Amino acid sequence: MRKINYHEADIVIAGGGPGGCEIARRFALAGKKAVLVEKGSYSSRFLGTLAGTLSRLELRPRFSSMPVRSTIEGSAIPLCSGVGGGTLLYCGSAFLPDRSFWLRHGIDLPQRMIDEAAGETWVSETPDEFIGPGSRRLMRAALDMGLPWAPLKRHIDFNRCVPGCDRCTYGCALGAKWTGLQYIDEAVDSGAMVLDRCRVRSLLVEQGRCGGLVATDVLGRIHEVRVPLTVCAAGGIGTARLLRKAGIPEAGATFAGDPTGFTFGFLSEGKGNSHEHNMPMGFKDADNGVVFSSMLAPQIAWFFQVMGDSVKKTPGRIFSYKRAMGLFVKVSDQDRGAMLENGSITKTFTARDRERIRYGRSVNEKILVRAGCDPRSICHTDLTLGHPGQTAPLGVVVDENLETGISGLYCCDTSVMPEAPGMPPALTVVVLAKYLSGLLLQKNR
Ligand SMILES: Cc1cc2nc3c(=O)[nH]c(=O)nc-3n(C[C@H](O)[C@H](O)[C@H](O)COP(=O)(O)OP(=O)(O)OC[C@H]3O[C@@H](n4cnc5c(N)ncnc54)[C@H](O)[C@@H]3O)c2cc1C
Repeated sequence: MRKINYHEADIVIAGGGPGGCEIARRFALAGKKAVLVEKGSYSSRFLGTLAGTLSRLELRPRFSSMPVRSTIEGSAIPLCSGVGGGTLLYCGSAFLPDRSFWLRHGIDLPQRMIDEAAGETWVSETPDEFIGPGSRRLMRAALDMGLPWAPLKRHIDFNRCVPGCDRCTYGCALGAKWTGLQYIDEAVDSGAMVLDRCRVRSLLVEQGRCGGLVATDVLGRIHEVRVPLTVCAAGGIGTARLLRKAGIPEAGATFAGDPTGFTFGFLSEGKGNSHEHNMPMGFKDADNGVVFSSMLAPQIAWFFQVMGDSVKKTPGRIFSYKRAMGLFVKVSDQDRGAMLENGSITKTFTARDRERIRYGRSVNEKILVRAGCDPRSICHTDLTLGHPGQTAPLGVVVDENLETGISGLYCCDTSVMPEAPGMPPALTVVVLAKYLSGLLLQKNR
């Protein structure tokens, strides 16, 4: 029989998303013993390079035009593994949580927690010198159309960033982009333990109470962590898997992902918005449930996007990267989707979702044409579900204390979203982690 490594602590966190990192930090700072278990590595090695991205992304075993995981219907779901979760490779765009949205669902997120989270995660507006000429051209076109296009907030320390760098999604080699590593490093300095390259296999549930978890590390060693408090921060899909296995059938019965579609066009001459800072400008169109932003992905990622539109046209387009202009629209979708028994995801779009996508794409087309792109050159990419969540929704699987029906078992990631936020959610997850830590520390006093 294989030897089991036993650990005892005040709290264990399954998955190292930004929420999990903050909970570990808060517990460690309060002198409590926190253990965080993450299937990816605890490292910033190779961040900023293609190798760093590929080693963290959950890739498909076979090469195809969609190298990352996707739904059965074909929408990509890019997932990042590693302590810090998706923040390692995210674009760094920051949207403050909407207090009225959360209040409507029974959670009063204090403004002081939002302010604290924004300060700690380096939220600031894109400065003028980081807005490239192509992005400005798109802004002028959008403003001419009466759209309130403006600089967006970013999780960036602009003193360390370089104008013209478009590599947020490769991870930041300069340390200019905030990630969950900032929280976990502080947690570890204060005594928290990280079991990395260690996959949580199951939650320990007995008589309606969760007493910790069992995990296996990369060398095949088994770890059993016994605790009074367990938090799942394994992301919309990882958390749903663990809850379902623990006997919560509603977990993963719904799924939303904020579908994102890029629209490209090509200028007949001059430079587009390639090699410009990611998501510098845009606006949240709350009335229509969408967010717009200008962005052209780094060339290799863009190659896959263009190939998704038309493999035949790719050779002609790929050499026109410099003249390309890109925008995207992110849609707040309905929860029509589910995780199947084998872990795959099915996601269909409702009539409302399709209408929002159609609206967003048509606005993008108009902006691009007004900015000087040839109307015949406009193309749209397939949809990507960048914010997989709503798989353990507030009000269904968790209550307003983010606790499941199993006592002592909590969730803190995008799984708990009661509705698709339709905007980048990392900051919201961090604020939820502050809210949950406050409740749990009181319990654990
Ligand atoms: C390309 C891209 C760009 C993005 N851009 C932005 C942006 O600009 N702004 C923004 O706010 N958001 C952005 N996001 C989304 C953002 O990264 C996530 O919403 C954020 O990280 C919070 O996600 P989460 O906490 O639900 O889970 P995640 O961040 O996905 O973390 C879950 C972690 O749990 C681990 N895990 C899963 N299962 C297990 C298991 N069984 N055992 C152990 N560990 C496990 C995973 O490896 C992962 O590290 C982007 C996402 C992508 C993919």
